[in-house]
Amino acid sequence: MRTEATPDQVQQVEDEIQRIGCRPFINPGVERKVIAVLGAIDARKGDLVEHFNAFPGVARVELISHLWKLASREYHPTDSVIEVAGVKIGADEVVVAAGPCSIESEAQTIEIARAVKAAGAKFLRGGAFKPRTSPYAFQGLGEQGLRFMAKAREETGLPVVTEVMDTHEVDLVAKYADVLQIGTRNMQNYALLKMVGTLRKPILLKRGLGAKLKDLLMSAEYIMSEGNPDVILCERGITTFEDSTRNTTDINAIPVLKHWTHLPVIIDPSHATGDWRYVGSISKAAVAGGADGLIIEVHPDPIHAMSDGPQSLTPSKFTALMDQLRRVASAVDRTL
Ligand code: PEP
Ligand code: MN
Repeated sequence: MRTEATPDQVQQVEDEIQRIGCRPFINPGVERKVIAVLGAIDARKGDLVEHFNAFPGVARVELISHLWKLASREYHPTDSVIEVAGVKIGADEVVVAAGPCSIESEAQTIEIARAVKAAGAKFLRGGAFKPRTSPYAFQGLGEQGLRFMAKAREETGLPVVTEVMDTHEVDLVAKYADVLQIGTRNMQNYALLKMVGTLRKPILLKRGLGAKLKDLLMSAEYIMSEGNPDVILCERGITTFEDSTRNTTDINAIPVLKHWTHLPVIIDPSHATGDWRYVGSISKAAVAGGADGLIIEVHPDPIHAMSDGPQSLTPSKFTALMDQLRRVASAVDRTL
């Protein structure tokens, strides 16, 4: 719409979009209102461009070239900034979430939360519902784990990020979590994506092991098309022929996603490498490469961790890494 378009003119366009059987999405808070027209249509797209061009207040009509519409830069040219409990994700500050792979006990959760907060982390991560490769492996503490995270938030003020694996548990996890994580294995669980799309809490969406970036953005689109605009994308390593590391970090994902989408992009160097000795290097590469944040596994006693000990940093190694990351961030004109 033109910057001087009146609310009536905007409404008229929205009504017309509905009349032709599509859904209007308005990108709010920006000077120029962009209205996305979403839906399957019978009419020729070129005819629709002409049709809407004739409406008063319309500046121009463009076809969004990508299949992800709401996630695209064409719909929302500026970077999206997602605010959680006063922390901004996608702004100048590089934001770090840290914590154990699995929530194991109240004492463990509070101890780690205090340590990562002191080191500068802005979120506590931790799994209460764990997607494990083996059904015989530790499956997480469930709701009790969520309660321990809530206790740690009370003690430290850190907002919490935790995974939801099943549509039946969305309400339960949303009751405790500040950010809900959709894990790698569920990236294309469309029922789950649609359900978290109805929430008013940010979603951390992890890339599937064998998913293209295009697939990741289509999954983000599922969430956004249900009305939740707050999606944080996470590159966490993909399966390749290389087996010297647990997964292969796709560093290319950062500039490609930044090109295609306005959503914040973060890196998970712990699952991407599977080895604590490589976590520092990949974290620094991610910050240098333009990532908006990191999610890092930290455990005070990695050898005895219930899951992912080999890729977990101790609090002291995490603290030392944060000092280095601050300098990398400042080299690329960001803070941390
Ligand atoms: C996790 O973050 O604990 C996790 C299981 O991650 P992913 O889904 O990336 O494997
Ligand atoms: Mn893990």
